[in-house]
Amino acid sequence: MDLQFSKEDLAFREEVRKFLRANLPDRLRDGAKRTPGVFVEPDIGLEWHRILNEKGWVAYHWPVEDGGTGWTPTQKFIFEKELALAGAPALSILGLRLVGPVICKFGTPEQKARFLPRILSGEDYWCQGYSEPGSGSDLASLKTSARLDGDRYVVNGSKMWTTHAHHANWIFALVRTDASVKKQQGITFLLIPMDQDEVEVTPTLSMSGDHEVNQVFFSDAVSSVDNRIGEEGQGWTIAKFLLENERGGSCFAPRLLKNIEWLESAAKEQPSGVNGAVAHDPRFRDKLARVKLDAEALEFTELRILADLAKGRQPGPQTSLVKMLGSNIGQQVDTLRLELLGFDALQLPMERPLYGNEAPEPVGSQAAQTAMGRYLNNRAATIFGGSDEVQKNIIAKTVLGL
Ligand SMILES: Cc1cc2nc3c(=O)[nH]c(=O)nc-3n(C[C@H](O)[C@H](O)[C@H](O)COP(=O)(O)OP(=O)(O)OC[C@H]3O[C@@H](n4cnc5c(N)ncnc54)[C@H](O)[C@@H]3O)c2cc1C
Repeated sequence: MDLQFSKEDLAFREEVRKFLRANLPDRLRDGAKRTPGVFVEPDIGLEWHRILNEKGWVAYHWPVEDGGTGWTPTQKFIFEKELALAGAPALSILGLRLVGPVICKFGTPEQKARFLPRILSGEDYWCQGYSEPGSGSDLASLKTSARLDGDRYVVNGSKMWTTHAHHANWIFALVRTDASVKKQQGITFLLIPMDQDEVEVTPTLSMSGDHEVNQVFFSDAVSSVDNRIGEEGQGWTIAKFLLENERGGSCFAPRLLKNIEWLESAAKEQPSGVNGAVAHDPRFRDKLARVKLDAEALEFTELRILADLAKGRQPGPQTSLVKMLGSNIGQQVDTLRLELLGFDALQLPMERPLYGNEAPEPVGSQAAQTAMGRYLNNRAATIFGGSDEVQKNIIAKTVLGL
């Protein structure tokens, strides 16, 4: 495995840096920094999405024929690292990383022509309808039904924890089209327009007061048979393809290391109340050093996966490992941020957004204003996309053969 960047890779890195210097507005960078939620809001995310799309870089991981860039895995890593270093808003994964690649792989030519350009342009905003009340980890037990009636499906049931459903005009959903067969075999992958009276979205507020997730109710909602991806009963295969992209689609380490770098520099300024700056507190230094080592080790794991991908090998269960480590290290970083900022981090403003002219005044610093919200929201990172326990089950089964 060669972890050195080639001359071409270094030239590519320079091209990305130059682009970011010229095209990433401070307003968007600032908005992303002052968002305590897991996902940036569309006013920030879509503006950045469109800037990247104009350059042809927004769907860099898609096949070239569908609008991707044809970059090597190393170039993709460099791009993600530079985005993290520049503090660029993280884009919504729902269209670009989840349903987009599904349509590229399983969609008909007509479906590709209809949906992909609108994902690239940001005209369609997607949400993911997998989980239901009672069906999360045991996803295959889902009950939302879709009955074929002529050339359309009639959908009934409810989806839970649906991120950004209140912004979305489309939902990609797993629905049960056959209740008489083995549970995995009766599932179908259906795209459903949200803009109909028979689809109701109700908010679920998180502990921090953020509105990111929702419950979605379908009461005889309809969707054309043309909106079915793949065949009836193929939904479970498609769902697993999508989940692998969700867990291993991008690198965690660059953003973690950027946050750790911030902790290191802020610790030099922040008084500990006992012995100079927090950076002089041996317990804090010890914890910070451990978390940094873990993040660096994760970065090497991610680079190793990229090296495998470059040789045409599939990462497989390593995506579970990376998802689990990345989200756990992220939670440790959030905890250290609270420790570092002390009393100031106990503030939890409920107004949103915390950027722009209407933002409330922070107590202490802007970093302190968002620290508690980030900490609380990011508790979900070890749950969504498959909980830690579920990832451990996958590793136990596929890697350890237990
Ligand atoms: C902020 C947030 C955003 C989300 N966004 C979306 C979204 O956009 N779309 C969507 O479809 N879903 C979304 N989810 C749902 C998420 O995927 C589920 O919460 C997750 O799959 C867990 O399911 P559950 O909540 O039903 O918990 P359960 O499955 O009931 O699990 C409860 C506990 O039991 C443990 N457990 C369950 N099964 C096992 C097992 N076999 N072995 C060991 N332990 C087990 C779990 O690890 C967990 O600790 C989101 C969740 C959150 C918190």
